[in-house]
Amino acid sequence: MSRRSPADTTFAHDLPATPMDPAAMAAREDKIQVAMIALCGCWGCTLSLLDMDEDLLALLQKVNINRSSFTDIKKIPVRSAIGFVEGGVANEENIETLEHFRENCDVLIAVGACAIWGGVPAMRNMTPLAGCLREAYVDSVTRPVEQPPTIPYHPDIPRITKQVYPLHEVVKIDYFIPGCPPGAQVIKTVLDDLVNGRPFGIPAAINRYD
Ligand code: SF4
Repeated sequence: MSRRSPADTTFAHDLPATPMDPAAMAAREDKIQVAMIALCGCWGCTLSLLDMDEDLLALLQKVNINRSSFTDIKKIPVRSAIGFVEGGVANEENIETLEHFRENCDVLIAVGACAIWGGVPAMRNMTPLAGCLREAYVDSVTRPVEQPPTIPYHPDIPRITKQVYPLHEVVKIDYFIPGCPPGAQVIKTVLDDLVNGRPFGIPAAINRYD
C-alpha cells in the first residue's frame, strides 16, 4: 500500500470547525473569556481545574473557556480576561504559545510549581542539554539495542531550550498559584474572585504546605 505524501493529506486541524448554534455563540460572547494551556508539565494542574466538579458548572454560567487543553483550539479566538498557564518553558513552541497568551490575555496566571520555577522538568537544568539528550537517546538502558543510537531531529519538531524556564523569565506574569498541583479549591477560589471583581488572594487555609 502506498503512503500519501503530507501535501495530499488533510490533517484534523485543517478541517472546518463544526458549525455552532448562533444563539449559543452569542451567549458565550457575553461571558468572561478564559483561556488555559499546559506547556511543559504533566497536566496535573489542568486536571485540578476539572476536579472542581460541579463548582465548575456554576462558574461556567459566567465564564467561557475558549483555548484550552480540553478544546484543542490552537489559538485564543477572542481577547481573554484571564489566562491560566501550567508547566514551564522547555522548547520553542512553549515560548510561542506563552507569548501568544501574554498578548491575548489581560491577566496571566502561572499555575503550579512547573510554571512558577520549572518544577520536575527543571531537573534537567543540572546537566548540559547535550548530556540530557545523550542520556535519553544514546546511553539509555531502554534504547532498542537493534537500532543505532539516534537523537531525534526534524525541522517540524520544536527545538528544545538549553534550560527549562519558569514563565516569568519569558513574559510578565500577573499572579502565581503555588502547588504541585494546586488543589481544585484554590483554583476555584482564584477564578471565582477574579470573575466577581474581587482581588486575587489565596487563603492559607486552603493552600499551605508546612
Ligand atoms: Fe504536574 Fe506538579 Fe508540574 Fe502541575 S506543578 S504540571 S501537577 S508536576
